[in-house]
Amino acid sequence: MDRREFIRMASGAAASVMIPPLVRINDPDDLGIIDYPSPRRSRRPRRKSTDYIVLHTTEMTGSVPENNISRYIRRYGLANYVVNKKGAVYRIMGRHQVSHGCGRSMWDGIMDLDQNAVNIEFVGKHNSLLTPSQFDSGRDLLAELKSLHSVEDMNVMPHSMVAYARPDPMFLILNGYHPVVMNNSDRSRRGRKRCGMLFAKDDIRLRLGLEERPLQDPDVESDRLSIGDPYLHRVLYGDAKIDEDVPLLPRWDETFCEEIESGSHPFYHAGKEYAAESTLYILPGGVVATGADLQEAEHDFSDNPQGTHICVGFEYGGRFEGGDKPYERMGRAWSMPSTWYFLPDGDTINGDNIDPETVPVGTMYFFRK
Ligand SMILES: [Zn+2]
Repeated sequence: MDRREFIRMASGAAASVMIPPLVRINDPDDLGIIDYPSPRRSRRPRRKSTDYIVLHTTEMTGSVPENNISRYIRRYGLANYVVNKKGAVYRIMGRHQVSHGCGRSMWDGIMDLDQNAVNIEFVGKHNSLLTPSQFDSGRDLLAELKSLHSVEDMNVMPHSMVAYARPDPMFLILNGYHPVVMNNSDRSRRGRKRCGMLFAKDDIRLRLGLEERPLQDPDVESDRLSIGDPYLHRVLYGDAKIDEDVPLLPRWDETFCEEIESGSHPFYHAGKEYAAESTLYILPGGVVATGADLQEAEHDFSDNPQGTHICVGFEYGGRFEGGDKPYERMGRAWSMPSTWYFLPDGDTINGDNIDPETVPVGTMYFFRK
């Protein structure tokens, strides 16, 4: 919704004959922004500087403020602003305050971008377009923030461009509602997530009033990071198309997988096995973890990201180290449709589609008990 529509709506039925007062818009707070304050506002420091604006996609749809994801963002202060599908802008953290949106991040050797970036979450998916209203209010919001903080177009970037993963083997962090599994690799790598990846595309940037963009990844170029997700890299800097985006979730087997309702504990789905190695959690975005992983990471099982699925009755096979073949590991189950391979780049392949010669190192696999 644009400013005028918002004023009209807010003023009620007689609004169509009301003329909004003529104000010079010189602060995003005048953009019809709805205050939706995080309880973290009282304690969060101000940023020391503001050099970047980082754009995110929530990976979940639904309206703000009603849906879980926006409540989650608010509760933990994970963004400065959230733009819902109708284009309404909600202010979560103060404009000058730190919000924890980027998590582990690096750009041109500068670490922890949350200390000098404004984070904006758009309700939507990394591989789908914003709504026309989101484009409209996103452009207005960006214009204001860019001018107030003197941020160059080049420095308005998608989260996926600045996030990176450490090389820890199978180290699981629940980074706010963005869950992350890091794979086996001896180097830190770019490509931890695909959040907001389309904000790197020229046509989309133009619709948001952004004319320039980074043409290469300075941390990959200078060898600080390796490329962890080649597809993402081609989206950000090359010609990859949305429709090449491989689905991050496997084919569901309703017998074995269920969505965990918000507020519900996985005990009700899996009994005592909820924290077992044979119980799989598929988190939003396709990240997979066993119950045992989550237990070890001290995950709060009564507070799961919306959209988390739980699958019981699997055998966790392990990880491919390289050199070994799936059939040596699990016999006939290697090629069954019910066997799942979770690739390090976030892709999932069922056993009937896997090429046993090319299973990447670090792939986790699960088969039916
Ligand atoms: Zn993000």
